[in-house]
Amino acid sequence: MLKTLQLKKYYNSTTTEVHALENVNLSVNQGEFVAIVGTSGSGKSTLLHMLGGLDRPTDGKVFVDDKDIFSLKDEELTIFRRRKIGFIFQAFNLVPVLNVFENIVLPIQLDGNQVDEKYVNEIISLLGLTEKISSMPNQLSGGQQQRVAIARALATKPSIVLADEPTGNLDSKTSQDVLGLLKVTGQKFNQTIVMITHNEGIAQMADRIIRIEDGRIVKGGDLNV
Ligand code: ADP
Repeated sequence: MLKTLQLKKYYNSTTTEVHALENVNLSVNQGEFVAIVGTSGSGKSTLLHMLGGLDRPTDGKVFVDDKDIFSLKDEELTIFRRRKIGFIFQAFNLVPVLNVFENIVLPIQLDGNQVDEKYVNEIISLLGLTEKISSMPNQLSGGQQQRVAIARALATKPSIVLADEPTGNLDSKTSQDVLGLLKVTGQKFNQTIVMITHNEGIAQMADRIIRIEDGRIVKGGDLNV
């Protein structure tokens, strides 16, 4: 279970204070797939960053499985993030000198862990990348590169997947296909998926749509709403 309590994030500059998030209360069940929608500047990325412990809130809490993640020191938070959360961003951020397989297992190796080959190969197969494992990123289409980025995010067996416009660079057919695969893998491994999207069609694929305006949730924040 992923939960926020009265979450606030204010950004200060010399002249103004931006209230990027204002008292956000949100609960997401384990295994649930939610889409966050809202106009540019409404606070979507800020919320995703807080959920993933990438940045600390001004006030309020984020709980993952009843643990208050911001009670952790920075180092512990980094370890928590690495073990528990898979990030997928719009930019694929693949390492150009590593092949597909090496890119996918890189986070596992960076964490000093053994690669669970059976599991990783299952992810690769589910995402339709088996024939591409020796290819270099520049030999892949955009859709294939995004599938590699998804495989890399899933390879560490995260219980939560946070995705920021994961299909922003893809055409709509490829976006639907890639999202369909993310949904299937999420269901198979009981992962919680929180995804930001601008695309209404993509949002409709989620179990629940959360709408955010001016840093506040205006729809879909609580379960069963
Ligand atoms: P969205 O993802 O919905 O486009 P963001 O979460 O990126 O929205 O931004 C919400 C608000 O916070 C915007 O007004 C944005 O300008 C501001 N903001 C985001 N990040 C920062 C930052 N690092 N410093 C100052 N202001 C920021």
